[in-house]
Amino acid sequence: QAKLAGKSCFRYYSRALDHAVERRLHLEQELRGAWERGELHLVYQPIFRTLDRMLIGVEALLRWQHPVLGAIPPSMFIDIAEQSGLIQTLGPKVLHAACLRARQWPCNGAGEELFVSVNVSPRQLRSGDLAAAVEQCLHVSGLAASRLHLELTETAVISDEMLAASLLEKLHRTGVKVWLDDFGTGFSGLSHLRQVPVDGVKIDKSFVADLQRDPDDLALTSAIIAMAHALGITVVAEGIEHQAQFDLLNERGCDLVQGYWLARPLDSDDLVRLLDAAPNPA
Ligand code: C2E
Ligand code: MG
Ligand code: MG
Ligand code: MG
Repeated sequence: QAKLAGKSCFRYYSRALDHAVERRLHLEQELRGAWERGELHLVYQPIFRTLDRMLIGVEALLRWQHPVLGAIPPSMFIDIAEQSGLIQTLGPKVLHAACLRARQWPCNGAGEELFVSVNVSPRQLRSGDLAAAVEQCLHVSGLAASRLHLELTETAVISDEMLAASLLEKLHRTGVKVWLDDFGTGFSGLSHLRQVPVDGVKIDKSFVADLQRDPDDLALTSAIIAMAHALGITVVAEGIEHQAQFDLLNERGCDLVQGYWLARPLDSDDLVRLLDAAPNPA
């Protein structure tokens, strides 16, 4: 009896597993060629300077609108692209598209040119010559290097320090800025900041989420800001959904802020409209 139950139990789990594997394989198939079919596009989430709340840059975020399955979240398809190696062709396309697009945006109300921040997945880091790809993109698009930022995840950079050091060195020579994304989640972070030459850290939204309620998160966030500033590194906070979070970060000197409370990710046309509508303080 027990044996039978165990068996059917196994069959149940194994069928559920088959299902998940099948779905993943299906999505992987669909993801191949999705760019060419025009199902993938970029949206841009504004990033603001905390001090004067000026919009000074954006983060490029990929969206997949499948004709039958609908919107598929990046948390799902980026992972598939990463595991399958598809990211190796997709990553450079995203980089190109973001650089070309950024050239079309008007300046902000203070007359400053926006930067565009592009996410780079761990596999992209390890494959080939990222610095050469970046240079190629800047050359083809004509975008000034200072207007391109790359977001690398903390864990990817920390996991291979030797590779990271030489890669970061090469990236710096191209003139782009490098930020560590999801900072704080790997937590090896604080001490490693001294060894990895980055321009900025993005405090993960999981810390920001509970800032008003959790004294530990507030303490850690304050420590990250203080440490980063001691090293001359810019601090960005992401996932700000309430004014209270903004106020706390502002008080502690967080340089840049991003989140639904300030602005949602926008398509390029809406971003341009927002910039055109912005009051000019000068
Ligand atoms: P990420 O780089 O940490 O991007 C920030 C995510 O937080 C985005 O989710 C953004 O829409 C979301 N977000 C922004 N403000 C708020 C807020 O106030 N509250 C909450 N709850 N969320 C907020 P999204 O667009 O779903 O992207 C998820 C992840 O997928 C990104 O995390 C990034 O790691 C990855 N990703 C997205 N586009 C690309 C891409 O082009 N290339 C690569 N390699 N990864 C990408
Ligand atoms: Mg990011
Ligand atoms: Mg992040
Ligand atoms: Mg993330």
